[in-house]
Amino acid sequence: MSLKVYAFTCGHLTGELGHLMEGGEGRIRLPIPAYLIEHPKGTALFDTGMRPDCQHDPAARLGARLTGLFEFDYHPGEEISARLTALGREPEKIDLIINSHFHFDHVGGNALIPNATMLVQRREWDAGMDPDSAAKRGFNPRDFDLGHKLRLVDGEHDVFGDGSVVCLPTHGHTPGHQSLKLHLAGGDVVLAADSCYFCRTLRERRLPRFAYDKEAMLVALDRLAALETAGARIFFGHDPEFWQTVPQAPTAIT
Ligand SMILES: [Zn+2]
Repeated sequence: MSLKVYAFTCGHLTGELGHLMEGGEGRIRLPIPAYLIEHPKGTALFDTGMRPDCQHDPAARLGARLTGLFEFDYHPGEEISARLTALGREPEKIDLIINSHFHFDHVGGNALIPNATMLVQRREWDAGMDPDSAAKRGFNPRDFDLGHKLRLVDGEHDVFGDGSVVCLPTHGHTPGHQSLKLHLAGGDVVLAADSCYFCRTLRERRLPRFAYDKEAMLVALDRLAALETAGARIFFGHDPEFWQTVPQAPTAIT
């Protein structure tokens, strides 16, 4: 049973490190990752990056609050569908979109993957469908309530039934955030997404300013640390230094 996994950079955002890591200073340029996972039983994306209209006019798309927080560095050809096409894959043939959570830089490309089933934690879906909690969490249903078939899961979930791709509940950043554990030839990899923005988040337990539940975030970090101790490689959500070490498509992660 062998997986093929590819990493894509779907643009960058620049923001204040202090918002993203307690005590951080200055500004930081964040990679926006998405991953393609090819399994004999199907193909999956883990996150889809930002909407392509953010390439031209993010303020019109996202509103003043988000565009006040971030500078956008996102260009045609960097959206998930273009990244897939450049790798020789058809966006229409992707079977699954596994979203870590519903923030705009993780679900913005869902609209470009029209025939996939969306696999998310039920808690995240419920938070996204409740107008009050969606507004509080900064979710926009137009990013994810697009008529995709839904596969809602509760907690840990074995995606293909053979233990090679497993959703791990890492709630806290949002109500139903999840990470993804992959069993590769070179060992286990955990795609942390926003449960852990940076390597320093894990090492120093410095949380972001904005979080749904900081206690739950710390529990999630403990879980990542335990997986790392057991030999897994943790892929941090938006760490620019770490990201430089990650092979990009067409080179596979092994
Ligand atoms: Zn987020």
